[in-house]
Amino acid sequence: MLLIAVILPLSCSHPKTPNSATRSPSVVTRNALQFSQESISATTPELSWNKSAKTTDFRNWQKNARTKFLEVLNYEAHVMTDFRVEVLQTVQFKDFVRQEISYQLEPGFKTTAFVYRPKDVSKTQGAILLWHGHSHGGKKAVAGIPPFVQEKDQHRAAAHQLAQANYFVVAPDMRTFGDSGVYLQHVIASGSALMTGRSIVATYIADSVRTFDLIVRHYGFRANQVGVAGLSLGAQVAMFHAAMDERVAAVVVQGFLSSYRGRFLTSQHDICQYVPGLIRWFDKADIGLMIAPRAALYVSGEKDQMFPVSEAISEFENIFRGYSLSNSQTSALLERHNGAHSWQHKAALQWFNKHLEKP
Ligand SMILES: [Zn+2]
Repeated sequence: MLLIAVILPLSCSHPKTPNSATRSPSVVTRNALQFSQESISATTPELSWNKSAKTTDFRNWQKNARTKFLEVLNYEAHVMTDFRVEVLQTVQFKDFVRQEISYQLEPGFKTTAFVYRPKDVSKTQGAILLWHGHSHGGKKAVAGIPPFVQEKDQHRAAAHQLAQANYFVVAPDMRTFGDSGVYLQHVIASGSALMTGRSIVATYIADSVRTFDLIVRHYGFRANQVGVAGLSLGAQVAMFHAAMDERVAAVVVQGFLSSYRGRFLTSQHDICQYVPGLIRWFDKADIGLMIAPRAALYVSGEKDQMFPVSEAISEFENIFRGYSLSNSQTSALLERHNGAHSWQHKAALQWFNKHLEKP
């Protein structure tokens, strides 16, 4: 009897087939990515100026924010070495010369750049460090070299146009772009950097700082004669460089201003744009505020799908508030255009003409 008493319950215990009526649709139908993004978007950056806005000490916030920014980037400046500049090629144009050079960014590593200089040195308006966007052409894309011709490519031959306006321009190949590797190797390089606790963004900024040094120390410009600019990925480099390097007197950021908590989180971006932990502390407006009161122009296209103009406006409103606190409202501007994700030459030229000291 005892044996039967034990067996019976077991033989009767068939697993029940899940019945849809017993499932909770509110749990099982939730999209995991959407849930994750909404959770992050609901947070406020811990060091956001908006959160700290009760204090009137903007400069103090800025100092602390910059320190945290470098900490989050895990920023390491490259060891200073001889630039070891070599001229690889010289091409003559009517009013300027374009040289292709190689120069050392850190011990054992060189990249190449186009350097434009007016033939009549007395006409030089200033110097511009120009970063290309996410293009396999690298420096060739901003130079307008086929197939990256001005009429078709989003860079609109930016370097060439600035050279025509008598600017001394240095347009390097970002690491793994152009002649600095094979396109898409930067995905591997970016992943490798993350495994070391850094991101390739920090390396790009260190490269930008080093190239700024090249313009000052090798080519002899004073820092307040040198502007930094870029489109898209290049704009990220320019903006982040200006945020942490007070030597940058004027920056032009095109096709990049938006919110990390907005479109960035809801769309696919390449791994080379991510910085571990960054949005825990800041959104983009806070990085823009680190540049105040220095001159910063943001350019945004009405048809830019990746960096929507609506987000550029809301981020810029926060940036402008900080510039107002520094009594430097005329040093920050958001310029909108009717186009898509593309370089706007006239806006950049007017900004640098106004804000860079003439040699
Ligand atoms: Zn990438």
